[in-house]
Order: sequence, then C-alpha cells, then structure tokens
Amino acid sequence: MVMLSMLTALALVPRPEKVVENAGTCVKPEIRYETDASIPAEGYRLSVKPEGITVVSSDAAGKYYAGVTLAQMKVPGGKGKPDAYPCVEIEDAPAYKWRGIHFDDCRHFFGKETLKQTLDLMAQHKFNRLHWHLTEDQGWRLDIPGYPELVKYGAVRSASPRHGTHPHRGAKEDAADLNGIKYGPFYYTDADIREIVAYAAERHITIVPEIELPGHVFAALAAYPEFACVPENMKAREPRLVWGIEKDVLCLGNDKAIKFMEDVLDYVCKLFPGDVVHIGGDECPQVRWKSCPKCQARIKAEGLKDEHDLQPWVTRHFVKFLEARGKRALGWDEYLLGDIPKSAIGMNWRESSRGGAGHQLVSGVAAAMRGHDIVMTPTSYCYLDYAQGLPDDPFQYIGGRVTLERCYSFDPCKDVPEEARKHILGGQGNNWSEYTWNEFDLAWKMWPRACALAEVLWLGDKKPGFADFKARMQTHRKRLVGQKVNCAPLE
Ligand SMILES: [Zn+2]
Repeated sequence: MVMLSMLTALALVPRPEKVVENAGTCVKPEIRYETDASIPAEGYRLSVKPEGITVVSSDAAGKYYAGVTLAQMKVPGGKGKPDAYPCVEIEDAPAYKWRGIHFDDCRHFFGKETLKQTLDLMAQHKFNRLHWHLTEDQGWRLDIPGYPELVKYGAVRSASPRHGTHPHRGAKEDAADLNGIKYGPFYYTDADIREIVAYAAERHITIVPEIELPGHVFAALAAYPEFACVPENMKAREPRLVWGIEKDVLCLGNDKAIKFMEDVLDYVCKLFPGDVVHIGGDECPQVRWKSCPKCQARIKAEGLKDEHDLQPWVTRHFVKFLEARGKRALGWDEYLLGDIPKSAIGMNWRESSRGGAGHQLVSGVAAAMRGHDIVMTPTSYCYLDYAQGLPDDPFQYIGGRVTLERCYSFDPCKDVPEEARKHILGGQGNNWSEYTWNEFDLAWKMWPRACALAEVLWLGDKKPGFADFKARMQTHRKRLVGQKVNCAPLE
C-alpha cells in the first residue's frame, strides 16, 4: 500500500515553503505568538508540538497567514473529541508581494455579498490584493460626490447581450443580440465601499480601485456628454450595451473633463487607503481626438506632435496627480508607452514572446527593463474568463483556453533578465465579466484555477510541480465544495 505523505493528505494550498513533518498531534487549541524581526514580511514560523502551538512572525500579516495554514491543517475531532493538529515545523514566506485577483463589477454586477465571499476565499489562499474594476464603457459603479448624474445614467443599461451570443467585436448596432432587459441601477455608495475596504483589511487584503481613463469611459460620458469630443454621440444617455472597444473616449482638450477625472481620483484616494490606484489606460482609440478641435488645440498648446502623444500626456498628468496624494499609479501595459514617471506600475496582459502588433513594445519585460515595477497577468496563464478546457462545461467563456495545469505553469519572471527581476512585483488572476453573469459562474471560473495561481505566487520557483499540486487539489477541492463554493472539476 502506498501511503500519501501527511501533507498531501492535509492538502495545504498553497503549499508552505519548508515543512518538516513530525510524529504525533497537538490537541491544545491555545497558540503562543512571538515576534521576530528577522522573519520576512508576511512570513511566519509555525511549530506544532504535542505540548502546544507556537507562531512567530515579524508582522500581523505573517501571524494571520500562520492561522490560515493552521485552519487547513485542522483535523476536526467530533463527538466530544478535541480538534487535532499534526506535529510540524513550518517556515514560510511568499515569493511575490503582489498576489492579486481582479474583479470586474462593470460588465456584470456582483455586489457586496459576492465580493465578501471572494475576499474570504482569497484570504484562504493568501492572496493580498483585490483589483476592483469599478468603471467601464458598460457601467459606472461608484457614487461620486458632486457628480450625481454618474450613477443616474452610468449605472443602468436598457439591455445587455443575450446569453449565448458574442456581440463583442465592435458591432455596436447588433441589436438582435440584445436581451432588452433593464440592468441596474447597480452601484456602490460611500458606506458600501468603506464596509468592503474594512472587510478586506481584516483579511490582510488591500483593495486596488480601478478608474479607467482616457478610454473605457462611455458610461461616464452618458452622464456628462460634454466630456466627450462629440457630445451628440451620447444622446441615448446610457452606457454601451455590447462588449468590445468603444471609440468615444474622454475629450482631453476639455479642461472640465480633466477636472472631472481629478475630482473622481481625489475622492478615490480618500476613500481607499491602499497605496495604489489603477487608472486603466488600455484600448483607447484616438480617432475622436484626431478630428476634435479642442483636442487639437491641446496638442498645440502642450507642444505635442499629434494625437498619439495625448495619452502619454494625460498619463503623466495623473501619475503625478496620484504621486502628490501619496499613491502610485497602476495601469494596463500600453499606458507606459511614452515618457512616463518611474513611479507608475504596469499591469501586463500581453506576452513578449507572443506575436501581435506592438507586443514587444508594451511587454512587461520591456517595461521592467526600463525601470517600471510590473504586475504580470499574461492572458494565456492568468485570464480566468478564458475556457478551462473541461468536457461538458456548462458555462460560456470569452474564448481562449487556460487549463488548471496552464495556470500552474505561470512564471511571472519568464523571459525577464536577472537584472530586471526586482521589478516584478508578482501576478494576478483576472476575472473579466462580459460572459460571467452571476456568482455561480464567477466561482466556477475562479476555482480551482485561482488555487494554482495562489501557489505560483506564494512559492515562485519553489513550487513542487503540477503532480504534487494536483494530488493535494483532490482533497482541497472537496474542502471548497464543502464550503458551498461552485468549484469546477480539476479536469
Ligand atoms: Zn476632444
């Protein structure tokens, strides 16, 4: 008979860095906490002996993560018997300091309860950043003081794409694919945000709010058409109804439009205590700027060459705006093109080794070589809205194929030269929600693939390999299902 090692049977996910298994168990629930400044940030030592449990850490996060590990190790007693913990000596610390999950509340809206469940599950897997996508072409989800029209017009759609259709590739007029069902108004108040921020902080998760600019702002333009280059295009006064990329973007020649974004970001800086604010920066067509008199006047006044220079101009403006408020800007890979201050962090979804126009230029590798800190989120490893390669999968995906094994093979430092590796902060699983309707398909798409990303980001090069992970996942998946998580099968 082949015995599973105790840790395989215990199914610790992510697996701790160093584990020594000893004989015996501990049935005493009291934990002794000690501090040792030499232990790395978020790291801990956990000693379980028959006579008691000791946790040593240098910070509160390390102490918390020791508790997360212990919770997974617990063997419930039942019938009057105490819970037992197998005797181990663990030394553990994360390989990467950015271990993120992205949450798109704009294409579909999930709300506070689903957010809290997601934060609970993230904490159980030692994720520490929730990237909260709050504004988009298809919905504006944040109530901003002084701008009441934002949620009045921007948080409700008269229709959405019908389930099973793919109105995504720019065919805005494809009305046959729309369901005609009013969606919203859905948005968060000041009190909602404070509640979520506090809930996350209790779990050592920092919320990173995302306010998209200068593209992906159609819902805001529905509320304030005067901030568009062509206000007449906004006469329907509602967000974009289909998915895909929108040509109507923020008019960068209009001082009032810039002031509007400043007011939004100023409020966001006060509402979210975290150190980073995501300002989008992706997929911004320049066609409106090219023919807009105000944008052309801006180009002239600022000594810019043409409309291609407008996005770097506005990026520099808001990177500095955030710096002045003690925050760092984060944005999608192409926002780093041009002369951008080095405090700006890149979030890279394109891969340097893959083809496609401009991929080399905007790659995280290239940006890290230029001195920017980078969070790696390459589509073919980290996009949880891509199909997971399961037979008879009942849910719809945006496309692609990212299996559990593919997620586990993610290496944030892939192709990054040694001298630039210090700029790789970590990585993140991205849950875009065009084709994710509710909490059930959201969970299905996240779990178990986010377990693989959690282990990659916690262990880095020390991950033990997919076979070892998969053996633990057989048990860990049952744990998730026992918690009523709609976890997909492993294969
Ligand atoms: Zn304009």
